[in-house]
Amino acid sequence: QDVGVNRRQLLKLVVLGDSGVGKTALLRQYVQKKFIEAHQATIGADLLTKIVTTNNINVSLQIWDTGKICVCVSGQERYDALGSTYFRGADACVFVYDISSKTSFAHVDQWRQSFIKNTSNDRNVSKFKFLLLGNKSDLQEDLRQVSTSDAAAYAQTNGMLFFETSAKTASNVDEAFLALLHAISTVE
Ligand code: GDP
Ligand code: MG
Repeated sequence: QDVGVNRRQLLKLVVLGDSGVGKTALLRQYVQKKFIEAHQATIGADLLTKIVTTNNINVSLQIWDTGKICVCVSGQERYDALGSTYFRGADACVFVYDISSKTSFAHVDQWRQSFIKNTSNDRNVSKFKFLLLGNKSDLQEDLRQVSTSDAAAYAQTNGMLFFETSAKTASNVDEAFLALLHAISTVE
């Protein structure tokens, strides 16, 4: 039996980022557009599931939208002691910032460190796939506070795939998740 393929039939994604950057909107855009969707509220987080086909394998995606498990400290969502429960078994982490918020971009590194800290017992950190999303790309250019090149450089330094997305117009949303799934499913 091919253990590798079986493992890939269920993928867990965790979505992290400051409050208001558009995590929930992005997931709604990504998941609701597709034909299979389930949405349920759990104890502290929203779990969305979606069936995708990648490399001819039907994969069940478990996506944890983490907003509700956090306490909000001056605009920044922070995890309580339950944090690691939501991170456990994750295959990949999606970090979201808002291109019109320099602060939300600056906080991405704290989210990254928090994820790594909470999954350090899981397995080799280098196996995790990371996706960085600069959301709200539909906003007028004069509202932009984070340049594409700064974010791309950060992503490259930290081994993250990177896209600027809009949950509002759906720009790059499918493309970003597809690239992430492709990266996960080509890991051997
Ligand atoms: P979360 O706290 O990260 O889950 O953020 P939400 O998904 O609740 O979004 C916060 C606010 O930003 C809401 O008012 C959304 O309508 C808005 N928003 C989310 N994504 C976008 C986007 O791509 N473009 C624009 N213009 N607004 C967005
Ligand atoms: Mg939310």
